[in-house]
Amino acid sequence: MRRSRKAKIVATLGPATSTKETIRDLFVAGADVFRLNFSHGSHDDHQARYDTIREVEREVERPIGVLADMQGPKLRIGTVKDGSVELEAGQTYRLDLDPQIGDETRAPLPHPEIFAAISPGTALLIDDGKLRLEVAESTPDYAITKVVTGGPLRDRKGVNLPGVILPISPLTDKDRKDLDFALDLGVDWVALSFVQRPEDLTEARRLIGDRATIMTKIEKPAALDCLPQLVALSDAVMVARGDLGVEMPPESIPGRQKQIVHACRLSGVPVVVATQMLESMIAAPAPTRAEASDVATAVYDGADAVMLSAETAAGQYPNEAVAIMDRIIQSTEIDPSYRGIIHARDGETEATGADAISTAAAQVSATISTAAIVNYTMSGSTALRAARQRPNVPILVLTNEIRTARRLAVLWGAHCVHTEDVSNTQEMVDKASRIAVREGFANLGDNLAITAGVPFRTPGTTNMLRIAKIEQ
Ligand code: PEP
Repeated sequence: MRRSRKAKIVATLGPATSTKETIRDLFVAGADVFRLNFSHGSHDDHQARYDTIREVEREVERPIGVLADMQGPKLRIGTVKDGSVELEAGQTYRLDLDPQIGDETRAPLPHPEIFAAISPGTALLIDDGKLRLEVAESTPDYAITKVVTGGPLRDRKGVNLPGVILPISPLTDKDRKDLDFALDLGVDWVALSFVQRPEDLTEARRLIGDRATIMTKIEKPAALDCLPQLVALSDAVMVARGDLGVEMPPESIPGRQKQIVHACRLSGVPVVVATQMLESMIAAPAPTRAEASDVATAVYDGADAVMLSAETAAGQYPNEAVAIMDRIIQSTEIDPSYRGIIHARDGETEATGADAISTAAAQVSATISTAAIVNYTMSGSTALRAARQRPNVPILVLTNEIRTARRLAVLWGAHCVHTEDVSNTQEMVDKASRIAVREGFANLGDNLAITAGVPFRTPGTTNMLRIAKIEQ
């Protein structure tokens, strides 16, 4: 089975999509990577979904990526009487470390790190920004605030502090347990939430080692201030527009999305655009025109993947959401303006052998119309460089590492096949030809641009570009 598009689809699993049938249907409809959201569900739930994904993977005989998304240090208000109290604009409201149930005058905020970081004038956004409080007075264990935007203050709602860097790790105690569990499961990607500084990634990398690759979620303004460093330290990046859109005004999100996607594309780091892409499809069988346009914008920007969250995890039309996303991507990619737009901001070729070969392969493919670029790769790094060129033909990735094949499920244009290594040039050409035909990318007489490293079976040696005509 092959996709008829370059950009990939990440689909979040949840109560609406836990059975083997629904997960298989999502894959068939177009989901390339499944996201397990550790903000919700038990370890047993995630274990069952993970096992089911691997069962589906065996049945469909295609590598599937699994992304474990850590909840991160989501700050929350404590509980209030009757589950909700009404706050009036203009009133004074106290937040403190006292665990007693809150009321119309005060509420618990069980995060000493917040009281240490705020000062008069700091804004506190509650419940995805529906309520806005401004700090008038702060001490190490309480703050007096003025309610700027009132409304119902509900139990355990999230608190955001735009622009404030909190002295906290992006991995809480819960995350550390979830991380151990996810790594034991064998997930391919770990997404880190609320990353603020390069040091956050260094710590996560130390814990994760090479057991999974790291996707950094950009959802804090502080992360944008050190974007180049974060991109350089990440294996992939997610534009997490949900929390970013609370921390920053909505009108700034389109520009920030372009900035993040561009920074990733320059570095050849895969980038996923996430959240509310087809939000109305949680309850409707078709998207709005604006949503279709939003997905297309991410594709025109050259994002590697677009993501569905509640649409597939808890919505009524998960399959329809993936199917329409697939159609929007396909239709965008054949639009006559598409190639001009995605190549308008290409980066320079870097001075490495792998980059020189990848640039040459893309050039060869454009010049003599090859049916595909074929990469032999162990770590996947050559495929990342090939995809960075956004070539106009598919990238067929042949790897003897199943983990590489699964990780690259998120990569723009990559169709990965898990296969044995080759040991000489003739075998390299024969295998590439056979698989290109079998997977539906080429026919007899077509040309392929094949990249590999000689001596064979040595990682990090990409140094060969071969143009081969398929003869058998
Ligand atoms: C987001 O904030 O956009 C996001 C993807 O994170 P989460 O769904 O964990 O809030």
